Amino acid sequence: MESRREKNLMAEEESDGLIAARRIQRLSLHISPSLTPPPSLPLLQTETCSARSKKLDVDGQALSLYMRGKHMDIQEKIFEFYNSRPDLQTPIEISKDDHRELCMNQLLGLVREAGIRPFRYVADDPEKYFAIMEAVGSVDMSLGIKMGVQYSLWGGSVINLGTKKHRDKYFDGIDNLDYTGCFAMTELHHGSNVQGLQTTATFDPFKDEFVIDTPHDGAIKWWIGNAAVHGKFATVFARLILPTHDSKGVSDMGVHAFIVPIRDMKTHQTLPGVEIQDCGHKVGLNGVDNGALRFRSVRIPRDNLLNRFGDVSRDGTYTSSLPTINKRFGATLGELVGGRVGLAYASVGVLKISATIAIRYSLLRQQFGPPKQPEVSILDYQSQQHKLMPMLASTYAYHFATVYLVEKYSEMKKTHDEQLVADVHALSAGLKSYITSYTAKALSVCREACGGHGYAAVNRFGSLRNDHDIFQTFEGDNTVLLQQVAADLLKRYKEKFQGGTLTVTWSYLRESMNTYLSQPNPVTVRWEGEDHLRDPKFQLDAFRYRTSRLLQNVAARLQKHSKTLGGFGAWNRCLNHLLTLAESHIETVILAKFIEAVKNCPYPSARAALKLACDLYALDRIWKDIGTYRNVDYVAPNKAKAIHKLTEYLSFQVRNVAKELVDAFELPDHVTRAPIAMQSDAYSQYTQVVGF
Ligand SMILES: Cc1cc2nc3c(=O)[nH]c(=O)nc-3n(C[C@H](O)[C@H](O)[C@H](O)COP(=O)(O)OP(=O)(O)OC[C@H]3O[C@@H](n4cnc5c(N)ncnc54)[C@H](O)[C@@H]3O)c2cc1C
Repeated sequence: MESRREKNLMAEEESDGLIAARRIQRLSLHISPSLTPPPSLPLLQTETCSARSKKLDVDGQALSLYMRGKHMDIQEKIFEFYNSRPDLQTPIEISKDDHRELCMNQLLGLVREAGIRPFRYVADDPEKYFAIMEAVGSVDMSLGIKMGVQYSLWGGSVINLGTKKHRDKYFDGIDNLDYTGCFAMTELHHGSNVQGLQTTATFDPFKDEFVIDTPHDGAIKWWIGNAAVHGKFATVFARLILPTHDSKGVSDMGVHAFIVPIRDMKTHQTLPGVEIQDCGHKVGLNGVDNGALRFRSVRIPRDNLLNRFGDVSRDGTYTSSLPTINKRFGATLGELVGGRVGLAYASVGVLKISATIAIRYSLLRQQFGPPKQPEVSILDYQSQQHKLMPMLASTYAYHFATVYLVEKYSEMKKTHDEQLVADVHALSAGLKSYITSYTAKALSVCREACGGHGYAAVNRFGSLRNDHDIFQTFEGDNTVLLQQVAADLLKRYKEKFQGGTLTVTWSYLRESMNTYLSQPNPVTVRWEGEDHLRDPKFQLDAFRYRTSRLLQNVAARLQKHSKTLGGFGAWNRCLNHLLTLAESHIETVILAKFIEAVKNCPYPSARAALKLACDLYALDRIWKDIGTYRNVDYVAPNKAKAIHKLTEYLSFQVRNVAKELVDAFELPDHVTRAPIAMQSDAYSQYTQVVGF
């Protein structure tokens, strides 16, 4: 017989055990809240919305199938790998130094343990590479960027700017992470203006070497990923200086790329002449070790010039297939657009995560309600729908636009078709800047849409926002990139009037410019029927009309101002107009791709859901710019009112299928990893995380 004391002791031990078990569970939730959702908890039902009209019946499976990328398998393999390795998951609280080490180990694990070799796909199968990047970025965005620095920037510069000898020598080491490296372009005084870089690479014909120098502090390489801790090599962008026999003694051949070893392969000590400093703690992405590099007469062999677009022979003679410095510079930067494509694509991934967290939470969360009736889901408030439903529609729009961009980029890599190169260059600049700016703002909207709980670190908006924020700046500042889009449009506009051809993405200008030049049809400006407003032709015409009008006007303004202000001054005088033009063009491309995706969807109910989202995307954008359309009488007052009413109605309709629309992203639980977004009992999970 057990004594009372023994029984008490056993009960105490049992409750100690329970407490310990709960504590372990709680701690594990802190480390990785997603991986241990209590399986037995009942599902919390989504509040049904007070039906204002019939809800669309969506076949979620068909929609998921249509949205699913070609490379879901490799993404699942990546998720499985990290799920099986709690030691490789990033905890909520971590120091900068630990985060950097963890991030390196995460990358080593991916490559050496999971056997996933992203570098192989950088050149040969970019679609697969971007799918890997999206998956690892959702594990930890620092990891996505660290991988991008190693394979797309450092590795990509070697294989895209170098020749066979470089590929043969470096490919395997880059691939297996023996040759960790950096992409050293930005300097303290020059970021966006790459042509202004000051680092020099002077050819020494006696020793057959280049001498790399940082001529002054303003030329110190700054923000260089992988430099502070892990990098062994750097692709250094420097002015190529050649000795000449004239009175000047040297000739500046413009910016070229050079492979410079920065740390010893065995000891990892910094090499003589190289000085490395840490850029320190950042707003986000602290798993990436950004550093600053100064070079003092660092000698490298002549072979280390990445010589695809320009070469130096043993006797110091310069050769290139491209005639001018500008053309060589353009070709060099043109090879680096992959980074931009990747960021646009990854930014849509971030938008999917944050929209999913906010929408799932808004479906679960209930506040207020009619007297003596249950509280309603906060997504039933018109204001919440207004914040989140056009965002959900935009997420779909950007998904299809970036899938298209990745396809075009892959095609360009295979064909090297000149027109396609120009097209992808402008399209990647435009989509990268437009989408990353949108996502950055959307992250704040999502945080706010989740109220106070959105502010808890465990619910992810803080880290997503901080890590993603810099997407707007690196790989080309967004404002600078949009100007490249505007410049490209103006170039094509000029070509059009000189009888030139327009590539696919721009061909609409030919037709819509003619429409623009004639007056808007006085009958159609008044049409306000739903069928008309939901007709893709009306929507695309409206977007195209706006772009054509902006283009025509800015071309005339530039011409006028350049007479008195010169080219640079005139451009600056019209800068805001030019940015609006670029955004308008990008929105037009996005809508065209969305309409195409709706049309091509083979599953009727999925197609109907996509059509709903597409109409909301189009009409919401038109409504946001209604002043412009009204000013030129493209839309009569009654039509403007009808557009507004229909936009609200479509928001409501999309709300009714919001669950199906976010579920179709098929983001695994550990990707959304926010207790407030879990499909099971959100509050139980959440209370456990904070310690109850
Ligand atoms: C976390 C992080 C990682 C990075 N990693 C790397 C790396 O690995 N390798 C590397 O080489 N670089 C890297 N960078 C540098 C990055 O690419 C640059 O910061 C970026 O190119 C912008 O340059 P900048 O900072 O000099 O900004 P600036 O060019 O000085 O821009 C500052 C502001 O001026 C505005 N502006 C500039 N020019 C114009 C113009 N013509 N018209 C209108 N507005 C203008 C911009 O819109 C911006 O708002 C990294 C930066 C960060 C923060």
